[in-house]
Amino acid sequence: MSLDVRAEFPQFTRQLRGRRLVYLDSAATTLKPRPVIEAVMRHMATETANVHRGAHQLSDEATEKFENVRERVRRFIGGVSTNEIIFTRGTTDGLNLLAQTLGRSILHMGDEIFLSQMEHHSNIVPWQMIAAEKRAVVRFIPVLDDGSLDFVAFKKMLSPRCKILSLVHLSNALGTLNPVRDFFKAARAHGVQCVLDAAQSVSVLPLDVAELGCDFLVFSGHKLFAPTGVGVLWGREDHLNLLPPYQGGGSMIAEVSEERSEYLKAPHRFEAGTPPIMEIMGLGAALDFVGHLGFDPIQAHERAIMEYAETELVKIPDLRRFGNSPQHRHIFSFLLGGSHPSDVGAILDEQGIAVRSGHHCCQPLMKRFAIPGTVRASFSIYTNEADIADLVVGIKKAKEMLT
Ligand SMILES: *Cc1c(COP(=O)(O)O)cnc(C)c1O
Repeated sequence: MSLDVRAEFPQFTRQLRGRRLVYLDSAATTLKPRPVIEAVMRHMATETANVHRGAHQLSDEATEKFENVRERVRRFIGGVSTNEIIFTRGTTDGLNLLAQTLGRSILHMGDEIFLSQMEHHSNIVPWQMIAAEKRAVVRFIPVLDDGSLDFVAFKKMLSPRCKILSLVHLSNALGTLNPVRDFFKAARAHGVQCVLDAAQSVSVLPLDVAELGCDFLVFSGHKLFAPTGVGVLWGREDHLNLLPPYQGGGSMIAEVSEERSEYLKAPHRFEAGTPPIMEIMGLGAALDFVGHLGFDPIQAHERAIMEYAETELVKIPDLRRFGNSPQHRHIFSFLLGGSHPSDVGAILDEQGIAVRSGHHCCQPLMKRFAIPGTVRASFSIYTNEADIADLVVGIKKAKEMLT
């Protein structure tokens, strides 16, 4: 294997049910490396102060470090200015922010919001909420049998009624990597605002907002080796400044009187209240960690693991895989014969193997395939061949017990 980073992840010192930990649920959240843990602890132990309130040295130091993370995020995704980088609580928060600001300001009765059948609930529900309020319509781009998006159907659906297209880059349920550039290019020709859910792709491939061709991009820190409670929303500066605020409070205003308030520009306009400072320090450390590894080795490792897993798993009789398109990454979703996914998940859990079973917050997708859910094994930079070998043994055992 090209990467050997397990020693950096203290969680591997743990045992699960008396066995070595086999963590195959990185699509739900990644484990945290030592530098991230240390950055969070350092802030809590000796560097605690609020940011942007000035007036003393600790606060100035914290503010400088905090704003420096914003700069590192900008570089990480190829942004032009730090004013384009908004700290959120995560992907869900970023998508709610967009539905409530972008959606609220541009949608009218009869307008259409395009999503796909493979969206995470967090990229469906916020849009349904604003659509109900604005009497707009949510439409779904179909998913083909191999787990890819139907581009032809999408082109036929496009019309001047479509105002927003919000798509997942890499499906958390299937592992499909969508050719989002093509979708955004076609949509933007119709003046559609394009949103990218990069929650899964952010840890497995280098992202460049200019190249992706989206108007907005969101991701969560905790799927990129950083703590929970922090995420990022990227948008173009002029664009963000046209949007109304999301939440009101401290730090987002230029001036407040009894009659009215004047708002700051982006990013502060969208960052009401004290931000998750220690989580953001952790995010900064996570970006450095990934930056030091480099995406070439990360992708080579992921490819090698995936190839090994595919070779071994397809040998198991009655294993039905979901998401067979050539373009997929780090996620293997399957069913075993007629067994319920949660039964398979429970038997794997008894063997100390952490996989996810269920609908993966993608109920419309499960309905599309007419299944209750899948068992999902997801891989990351610390996944090794022994993990896959244990998974194969675990699945064979589940098969024996269930058939
Ligand atoms: C995890 C995930 C989300 C939601 O992220 P949160 O961190 O729970 O807000 C959205 N979309 C995809 C593709 C995901 O994997």
